[in-house]
Amino acid sequence: MTSNSAIPPASSDSVADHAQAIHEALIAFYGYPQWREPLPALDELVSTILSQNTNDANRDRAFNSLRQRFPSWEEVRDAEPAEVIKAIHPAGLANQKGPRIQEVLRQITQQHNSLDLSFLHDMSSDDASAWLLKFKGVGPKTVAIVLQFSLNKPAFPVDTHIHRVSTRTGLITLKTSAEQAHILLAKALPKETYYAAHLNMIRLGREICQARLPKCGICPITNHCNYFRFNRTQSQITDKTSFDSRMVSNFIMAGNEEKKG
Ligand code: SF4
Repeated sequence: MTSNSAIPPASSDSVADHAQAIHEALIAFYGYPQWREPLPALDELVSTILSQNTNDANRDRAFNSLRQRFPSWEEVRDAEPAEVIKAIHPAGLANQKGPRIQEVLRQITQQHNSLDLSFLHDMSSDDASAWLLKFKGVGPKTVAIVLQFSLNKPAFPVDTHIHRVSTRTGLITLKTSAEQAHILLAKALPKETYYAAHLNMIRLGREICQARLPKCGICPITNHCNYFRFNRTQSQITDKTSFDSRMVSNFIMAGNEEKKG
């Protein structure tokens, strides 16, 4: 394994066909997913900031704590920073997230003279995305989550799980940034699949395609996965545990070679 060419293409089909096949396999395996009730746009934006580097339970604990301490977003905006940091402590990185939330609230107030974002419902997806991206600290993932889950507008958010699954399956390359992945995956999948594909890929990444040691032996998309195909061709080992361990090291080595290239 010495060059980029060591990683074979997932299939001769187009990326769109490949993405569709993965989506359909995940629907067959997990079913159609349901997320929590949609939040208003600003609530979703703050919740997404809180979600960084933590799990859903801690995100929700921090969000609920913040709302209990400050019933309105205006109060959060104008509060002593230490009070906001204290309220969102369960989410972790509170010293970073608290000031960031308050700064976004201040920026939105300066821009819009209000913290009511309901007007975004009447904008096109592109215009709403452009409007939200103006604010420092609001990136493509946050915007895509607000669009998809709060505004019911087509967007495909890419988090660390989706980025990893997409890289291993070959939908994107090891060099594709998260920002680029939002665009590429949104183009690859039909808009009507975004909601389910996003949630099912996250679930796969959390439960099976984990960062350190993916459980390929129980994965429903091995037929559509570069990582699996590459390592299967590299190893005749049948013992499951050592097979999976070798798959990890093989792919990392191949990835390093690709990065050098
Ligand atoms: S086959 Fe393995 S590497 Fe590929 S998506 Fe499934 S768990 Fe991840």
